[in-house]
Amino acid sequence: MTTWLCKACGTQYPETDEPPGSCPICDDPRQYVPYDEGQVWLDWESHLGAHEADIRDDHGILGIGCAPSFAIGQRALFVKSSAGNVLWDCIPYLDDAIVRRIRDEGGLAAIAISHPHYYSAMVEWAHTFGCPVHLHQAERKWVARSDPLVRFWDGERLELGGGLTLIRCGGHYEGGQVLHWRERRALLSGDIVQVIPDRRFVSFMFSYPNLIPVPAGTVRRLDAALEPFAFDAIYGAWWGRVIESGGSAVVRRSADRYVRAVTDGLPS
Ligand SMILES: [Zn+2]
Ligand SMILES: [Zn+2]
Repeated sequence: MTTWLCKACGTQYPETDEPPGSCPICDDPRQYVPYDEGQVWLDWESHLGAHEADIRDDHGILGIGCAPSFAIGQRALFVKSSAGNVLWDCIPYLDDAIVRRIRDEGGLAAIAISHPHYYSAMVEWAHTFGCPVHLHQAERKWVARSDPLVRFWDGERLELGGGLTLIRCGGHYEGGQVLHWRERRALLSGDIVQVIPDRRFVSFMFSYPNLIPVPAGTVRRLDAALEPFAFDAIYGAWWGRVIESGGSAVVRRSADRYVRAVTDGLPS
C-alpha cells in the first residue's frame, strides 16, 4: 500500500493498493488531464526518490519547493510569526532536509492553503509537524485525503494570531483565500490574486490553463475584500512571482483594468 500522487496536479490521495480511477481536481474545468499522457499516477516513495528539496530565500521569505519542478510547480512560503510559524500553501513533496530546516526554524503551528490546486501533500505535512491545516469551508469537497488535522473555517476572515489574517477572496475558487501578514505589509496570494510577468499588475481567472475568466462582479467583490488591508508586497504562487511595492494600488488598478476589459472593451 502506498499513497498516490496525480502527476498533473500533485494531489496526494489516500493509501490504497491500486491508484484511484480518476483525479476530480484535474477533471474539473479549472485544470486538465494532459493530452499527451492522460491520467498518470505516481507512488509517493518513487516520486520522492526522483526529486530533492529546493529551500531558498524568495524576496525575503523562506521558500520551499522541490527540484526538478513537479506538477503545478508552486513553492510554499515559511511565515515566521510571534504566534507560531505558518506554512503558506503546500507542495507535493516532503523530505528530511525540509523537516530538519523547518524544525531548526522553530517548527510549524499551522498550515494554510489558498485553494485546492495546492492542497497537494498537506496531510503528509500536517502529520509530520503535528499541526492543523486551515482551509475554507467552501472547498471541503476537494479534499482528496481527509484527516482530523484538516480544519475548515467559514466566513470572510480568520485571524491566525501574530498579525496573520486569512481573507476569503473567492474568484478562482469560491473559497479561495489569501494570507495578509501585517508586520511585513505583505499579501501571500497563491493564484487567487495572480502576479503576472511584468510585476506591475495582477489578474484573476476561473481557470488559468483553460483561459476561462471570472465575471466582473467577482473581481469587484475580491477587490472589496482586500480593500481594508494595507500591503506593499504581493507574493504569488511560484518562485520569483513577487511584487515588491505598491501592492494595494496594484490590486486596485488591476481590478479596474480587468473589469474594463470584460465589460467596456479591451485595455489600451
Ligand atoms: Zn490531478
Ligand atoms: Zn489554481
